[in-house]
Amino acid sequence: MGTARALVLEGPRNLSARDLPLPDVGDDDGIVRVEACGLCGTDHEQYTGVLPMPGAFIPGHETVGIIEAVGPRAARRWGVNAGDRVAVEVFQRCGDCDECRAGEYRRCQRHGLADCYGLIGIDRPPGLWGGYATHQYLGPDSVLHRVPDGLDPVLATVFNPLGAGVRWAATVPGTSEGDVVAVLGPGIRGISSVVAAKEAGARFVLVTGTDRDAQRLAIARDFGADLTVDITQQDPSRALKDATGGLADVVVDVTAKAPQAFLQALSLARPAGTVVVAGTRGAEVTGFGPDVIVYKELRIIGALGVDAPAYARALEILVSGRYPFADLPRRVVGFDDLEELIVQMAGEGAGDPPVHGVLTP
Ligand SMILES: [Zn+2]
Ligand SMILES: [Zn+2]
Repeated sequence: MGTARALVLEGPRNLSARDLPLPDVGDDDGIVRVEACGLCGTDHEQYTGVLPMPGAFIPGHETVGIIEAVGPRAARRWGVNAGDRVAVEVFQRCGDCDECRAGEYRRCQRHGLADCYGLIGIDRPPGLWGGYATHQYLGPDSVLHRVPDGLDPVLATVFNPLGAGVRWAATVPGTSEGDVVAVLGPGIRGISSVVAAKEAGARFVLVTGTDRDAQRLAIARDFGADLTVDITQQDPSRALKDATGGLADVVVDVTAKAPQAFLQALSLARPAGTVVVAGTRGAEVTGFGPDVIVYKELRIIGALGVDAPAYARALEILVSGRYPFADLPRRVVGFDDLEELIVQMAGEGAGDPPVHGVLTP
């Protein structure tokens, strides 16, 4: 038995280092030594207090690491051994409730949203429920993926946003060969959505951003976007019609802090098209008239989180090397600089936030 070092979010903007004892591993659980933990919008929203907090907890829910200890039954269930590199899903899955049996374990009745890694209070033993730590506890209902050999752990943390892209831009809308897809928002989830749409056979992908996003829109083109539009300069529906002769079969709204983008999503969709709304807005849409949904007979689908098939596909795409994820503007920090990186990703720090932020404890 040793100790783990962790960063505990005690309250908004109050992240402090603590040492916690590593628990003994039984038949059914395990411990992963964290090599890398990706950061997303959730991380800075937790830090700044935009999201409600469960009391003191260890954030970090995009963990990649090496299995340090694993019980025999857990090893069989997860298909892993000590020494394997794994990606840890944010949701836990009991496997037994109606939702889990239906494959919808994001709504697991025993675990659910409040019981995600990176969100469980430190007062629940053994406390090590997040990736901002040298070690993360793996409860019996964890969902793990073997990271393919040769995939660098920092790069492997992209399993999270790319899994989201696969589920939100391909699986949920049923994107298929020859579709025209519009992606709103050029962050890492938008870029991942481009990749997922292309992998699903989309013939044309549009990505929108604002005048602050010139670099990100250029990156989207590197990842295969056929057209990018700065919405402060150009009407995206007009631009899409000019380029393809019509509107989008599938629209994926992955904007952050841009609730009005929803109206643009509705106008970008063709009649009987599909609009996926993913990621939360934290605000109301002004000037929204639902009649457009009726007239165009749109399918509007909310997407919350990702599931195992999408994560597995993401890891396959990553290790294929077909897309330049390794070259994304990325900032990788240790414990000492994590707070500064989170502030930067919240848009409060100096300089543009990196597209991808990663902690390597
Ligand atoms: Zn995340
Ligand atoms: Zn369940």
